[in-house]
Amino acid sequence: MRRYFPVLLAAALLLTSLTLLRPGESREPSTALRTPLPSTALPAEPGRLAPNELGRVMILEYHKIDHPEERWTRTPENFRRDLRRLWERGYRLVALNDYLDGRISLPRGTTPLILTFDDSSPGQFRYIEKNGELAIDPDCAVGILEAFEREHPEFGHAATFYVLPGADPPNRLFNQPAHAGAKLRHLASRGYEIGNHTLWHANLSKYSEDVVRKQVASAQTWVQAHVPGYRMRTLALPMGAYPRDLQWAVSGKSGDMSYRHDAILMVAGGAAPSPHSRSFDAYHLPRIQAVESDLKHWIDHFDRRPDDRYVSDGDPATLTVTRGAAAKLRPAPSLRILEGS
Ligand SMILES: [Zn+2]
Repeated sequence: MRRYFPVLLAAALLLTSLTLLRPGESREPSTALRTPLPSTALPAEPGRLAPNELGRVMILEYHKIDHPEERWTRTPENFRRDLRRLWERGYRLVALNDYLDGRISLPRGTTPLILTFDDSSPGQFRYIEKNGELAIDPDCAVGILEAFEREHPEFGHAATFYVLPGADPPNRLFNQPAHAGAKLRHLASRGYEIGNHTLWHANLSKYSEDVVRKQVASAQTWVQAHVPGYRMRTLALPMGAYPRDLQWAVSGKSGDMSYRHDAILMVAGGAAPSPHSRSFDAYHLPRIQAVESDLKHWIDHFDRRPDDRYVSDGDPATLTVTRGAAAKLRPAPSLRILEGS
């Protein structure tokens, strides 16, 4: 998987640089389903924004992809529309783990975007039979993402799925038991990430150390039963509830299974700090719930305040920050720091 991903990324970068050279391309997407832009705030044109690698990053949190649209459900049509309006504004997908590692390789002038999907509900990843063969449902989240990527390769390829291996149906590993292993292997081998969401969505604030450790370790045991050796690097807290001692969720052992989480994600909190910022706290990473009101709020916010958003300088070996902002940087000895305007 790690060898496969850079190839995809390199291809995406190449295509992006070609695309950006065509005048008007970013403002005139060729699709019939394009959403009209709000008249109050024009999106920033990708490539034109000044680099600011201390700006904030949206980590979006989706739950069900299904009908009808509800508090915890985004319809397939609205999910496609979300991708389109973010792409139009110069957002590009990056893997959560790359964000954590501060390895954001995007073309100059674009903004990282992280997608997360909680609870392994059926509409996130569904197989259907097509001409006697299994195919990914074009209306499930994975199908929609992969179709969008084919149409706009420069948008990138990444998403993290916080799965529940021991939940009751329909939330147990996307609810097609015969295909659970194939789905997890698809995710792990195609550049997606699988994250820990406990065994069956336990509210970790309610339990003893032993139960907390068992919940997170056994989730990994079940994932490894399908994807040998897979280590989940991040934990999304069910209901955003921390255990009494943070360390129980960070690392440890239960039975034969050791676990170590490099980040812990909350269920709310807004846009996340740049991974290069002093305010970055890997064990308290905020997310934005992908419901219409919150999405609109944050997209509008960054349209109005492009200076608040992370904008890449196009060179992973340098960090570009606004003038006078270098004091807000976390120490990053391996990177060259440039001060922009
Ligand atoms: Zn959940």
